[in-house]
Amino acid sequence: MSQDAPTSASSTKLVIRNIGLLLSGDLDRPILDADTVVAIDGVIHAVGKEKDIDTAGATTMIDAKGTALAPGLIDSHVHPVCGDWTPRQNQLGWIDSCLHGGVTTMVSAGEVHTPGRPKDIVGLKAMAIFAQRAFHAFRPGGVKVYAGAPVLEQGMVEDDFKELATAGVKFLGEVGLGSVKDGTTGRRMVAWARKYGIQSTIHTGGPSIPGSSLIDKDMVLETDADVIGHVNGGHTALPDDQIVALCERSPRALEIVHNGNERAGLLALRTAKELKQLHRVILGTDSPAGSGVQPLGILRMISMLSSLGEIPAEFAICLATGNTAKMRSLNCGLIAAGREASFAFLDTAQQSAGKNLLDSIQKGDLPGVGMVITDGAVSIQRSRNTPPATHVPEVVKP
Ligand SMILES: [Zn+2]
Repeated sequence: MSQDAPTSASSTKLVIRNIGLLLSGDLDRPILDADTVVAIDGVIHAVGKEKDIDTAGATTMIDAKGTALAPGLIDSHVHPVCGDWTPRQNQLGWIDSCLHGGVTTMVSAGEVHTPGRPKDIVGLKAMAIFAQRAFHAFRPGGVKVYAGAPVLEQGMVEDDFKELATAGVKFLGEVGLGSVKDGTTGRRMVAWARKYGIQSTIHTGGPSIPGSSLIDKDMVLETDADVIGHVNGGHTALPDDQIVALCERSPRALEIVHNGNERAGLLALRTAKELKQLHRVILGTDSPAGSGVQPLGILRMISMLSSLGEIPAEFAICLATGNTAKMRSLNCGLIAAGREASFAFLDTAQQSAGKNLLDSIQKGDLPGVGMVITDGAVSIQRSRNTPPATHVPEVVKP
C-alpha cells in the first residue's frame, strides 16, 4: 500500500493537524512529541510532526486548534441489554450519552439486566450470540459495544464454550452472577473459556442487587478470571486486606469502576502503584446499574484517580485507554500506527482553576470534550454533556 495517499476512490483519509498535546494511551510513553495524526480507512497510519508526514489527499481535515488528542475512552464494564435502551433505569440513549463523555468502546460484563434472562444453557447461549450479533451490527453514535457475554450457569460443559467461541462470543459475563458460585467450578469453566479464546471477568465483593451474592478474595483467586471485575466492589467492596491481597497475589487485571466504592478504588490504585503494576489497572463504570448511568463516568474516574490518587493526568488517561486495550486484547486505546482511529479531543473546561488540561484534571475538574471520532469518522463535535471545552477542534476544508 502506498504510504502517501488512499489507494482507491472509496478510501478515506483523515488528517488531524495542530494537535496541542498528544496523549498516546501508552503508560510507558503517555505523551508523544507529535502534532499530526493521519488515518486511512479508519486505521491510524502515521503519527508525528506535520512537516514529516504526507497530509495530501485528505478526505477529512481537522484543525485541532491546539487541543489535546487522546484515544477514544474504553469502558471496561457495562451491562447493555438491547439497542440503546436499558431496563435497569428505563432509559433510552444511554450509550449515545456516554459517547459525549469521550467513550468510543464498551465491553459487556453480561447482559444481565435482560428482562426474563434465560438461565438454561441453550437459552443463555442463544442470548449471548444474539447480543454479540446485534451490537456488532448496531453502533449507537459509532460506539463499538463488545457484547454477548454469557453468565456461567451450573451444568455448562466444555463443548458449550467451544460452540460459543465458534459463534463469535469473545467475553464471559461476570462470574458469580449466575449459579456458579464456587471457585472450583468457576476455575474449570474459565479455563475452558480461555482455551477457546473467550476472556473472563469475575464479580468481586458484596451483592450488587437483591439476588446476587458475595464473591470474596478466595473465590476470585481460585477462579483466576482474566479480569478482577470491580476490585472496588460493585458497590459493596471487600475488606481492605482482601483487596490488597488480590493486588499482590493475582497477576490479573485490576478493574476499578465508577459504581463502586471510591475509597476502595483509591486503595487498589495505590497498592498497584506501590507494586509498580499500574499497567494492570483498568477502568469501567459498571453501568447501567442501581446507581444509574454516568455518561461522564470514565472521565470522572480519570479525574478522581488523578486528583485523589495522585497520579499524573496523562497516566490516569492510560488506565482508560491503552491499559484496557492491552488487558482485553482490543485494537483500540492507543494512538499508534495500525490501531483503530477512534479519538477524543480534550481541552481545559471553561473557567477551570487548572492552568492547562492536565493540571485541571489533577485538580479534580473534568475536561471538556470538543469532538469524538470513531473509526476515522467524526461522530460528534462539542459534547452536550461535559463542561464546555475552552477550545474545540474544527472540521476544515481539505
Ligand atoms: Zn458485578
